[in-house]
Amino acid sequence: MARRYDVVREGFMVKRSQNKKRYTPVNFKQRFFQLTTKALTYYDNDIFEKRKEKGRINLETVHTVEVALETTFAEENTITIHYPFLVGYEECGQDYTLYLNAHSELERLEWIKCLRNVCASNKLKDKYHQGVWTGKRWACCKESSRNSIGCVNCISRTFVSSHIADESDHNKENFNQGAQSSPIMPGGGATPGTPSAKLKEKSMIRPKVVVALYNYKAIETGDLSLEKNAEYEVIDDSQEHWWKVRDNHGNTGFIPSNYVKEKELIGLQQYEWYVHDMSRQRSESLLKHEDKEGCFVVRNSSTKGLYTLSLYTKVPHPHVKHYHIKQNSRAEFYLSEKHCCSSIPDLINYHKHNSGGLASRLKTSPCDRPAPATAGLSHDKWEIDPHELMLHDELGSGQFGVVRRGKWRGSIDVAVKMMKEGTMSEDDFIEEAKVMTKLQHTNLVQLYGVCSKNRPIFIVTEYMRHGSLLNYLRKHEQSLSSNQGLLLDMCIQICKGMAYLERHNYIHRDLAARNCLVGSENIVKVADFGLARYVLDDQYTSSGGTKFPIKWAPPEVLNYTRFSSKSDIWAYGVLMWEVFTCGKMPYGRLKNTEVVERVQKGIILEKPKGCYKEVFDIMRKCWSPSPEQRPSFRNLKDQLVNVSQGILVD
Ligand code: ADP
Repeated sequence: MARRYDVVREGFMVKRSQNKKRYTPVNFKQRFFQLTTKALTYYDNDIFEKRKEKGRINLETVHTVEVALETTFAEENTITIHYPFLVGYEECGQDYTLYLNAHSELERLEWIKCLRNVCASNKLKDKYHQGVWTGKRWACCKESSRNSIGCVNCISRTFVSSHIADESDHNKENFNQGAQSSPIMPGGGATPGTPSAKLKEKSMIRPKVVVALYNYKAIETGDLSLEKNAEYEVIDDSQEHWWKVRDNHGNTGFIPSNYVKEKELIGLQQYEWYVHDMSRQRSESLLKHEDKEGCFVVRNSSTKGLYTLSLYTKVPHPHVKHYHIKQNSRAEFYLSEKHCCSSIPDLINYHKHNSGGLASRLKTSPCDRPAPATAGLSHDKWEIDPHELMLHDELGSGQFGVVRRGKWRGSIDVAVKMMKEGTMSEDDFIEEAKVMTKLQHTNLVQLYGVCSKNRPIFIVTEYMRHGSLLNYLRKHEQSLSSNQGLLLDMCIQICKGMAYLERHNYIHRDLAARNCLVGSENIVKVADFGLARYVLDDQYTSSGGTKFPIKWAPPEVLNYTRFSSKSDIWAYGVLMWEVFTCGKMPYGRLKNTEVVERVQKGIILEKPKGCYKEVFDIMRKCWSPSPEQRPSFRNLKDQLVNVSQGILVD
């Protein structure tokens, strides 16, 4: 089984049977594919614990990764085959071809790119057959020798890229169907005249061209400003979070990699109205907050690969309507069957001029949406000069000291935690901070850096305007308690952040609602991860201490102080309970010793009032006495999404 951090890409695709045995009929099956740096493996499903391996290709044997001919597939079967590609490889001296069908042009492109990247050092073939081997001849050129070298030139021969798709969310993009991307065509590539084309002519190497998704103002020397929608050529993408790029005036510098998207993959992300994987609940809050008739967004539906239009109307009363964007058999998109368009942007354009059965014509979409935090305030920067920080009001105070709102170099909002002297082992933490600035996820509070030269040391993080989740839940109890969907969405967001930490083998050790923060557009993020390790106070670190988070601790932590991602899972269950009670104290007024007694006996928290049974069942799984029986965050996230699909309409 692949280790999580080895996984380059995974997802469902339809696979054509390989016909290794001569007389078995051709069939097409949906399989879950996982690409690591070693192999392409396919399974019967995606549930980690249950899946069975159905086949595997050792990547060292791969010699071809190319687009396949659509027509030859379509003739064979009634299922829709639109985006076929093939992987040629050798096994026991015999050539085989695996034919795969992606769900969209962009998905195919990403798979091909990832496969070619992981096979970059392989000796690739010059020619290949685009069609299938029918048993008698090649469907493309009608050649009757199975071993003939191929009828079309491979384009992978000229493909070189240093970038291997990683697991961070912005790289693991969804399949922006219908977006106006350039399809991969044999021999195709850059548009003449672009910087990309010039370089290609020179060296036959296709450089990566990215498009800015947000404006970015370079503050530190060596960085480069980005202008939304402008194109940049990537010079160096060897670091995960800061890439060196060149603009079209020839200026070069570092930019945050989460502010750009590869041109070929940009898809819907170039449009103001596309909000990516924003949930139904968050899109409702956003549109209600805008309060404009006809204000709309398009978001990824909770059903993978589909899109939903969320539209605000005041008629007959202010509310948000959600419409699935459907596709007909000709792969056209529609909201009402009478008005079909070849792409989603075309469809949106149509409904901007005609309501066509919608509650309102599409008029505006929310603008000035916040740009994401960057991993550190510049490339390789984690030490922050305190003179560059302007400190404003106090946001709160915790056991480490006071937290104040601030601005870095007069332009970036930050929160500054001023660590009380003697509360933490500072040198160790400062070392760790260098690593922590590199952890980046939409649902983690970004660590920007530290001011470590003076005392007290400052920890500088992303500013979250609505403060701690615990206070937020308590303050908005009235409106939140009647909106189970919103509560579930908060849990899913936290789970996504935790799944990222789990993937990076990072243990939080103090996960609780008080350590999560709420930002604009109801985004929820996990804060203070890993900090507990550097606390010097015995009362906090020892399970007998008065400040130890006993109520969030599983038996193995209480008994042996054994922390793991699975102890985080237990705490996460308690956090879910806090969310669904809108901030009640777990175990009420019970003393710590009484809580320990209960937990040892296996007595768990009660189902919060109004909480769905399915949701409580998930909490209970987090409280399995043995850590091995608890699910992983990755698995938990899928379960939560399934529950939200089951009990809520998307
Ligand atoms: P604790 O030590 O209890 O975990 P913290 O020291 O992290 O608390 O923070 C104390 C309070 O300061 C929080 O409850 C929150 O209201 C506020 N706060 C902390 N970090 C931020 C931030 N990044 N953005 C906005 N408010 C924050």
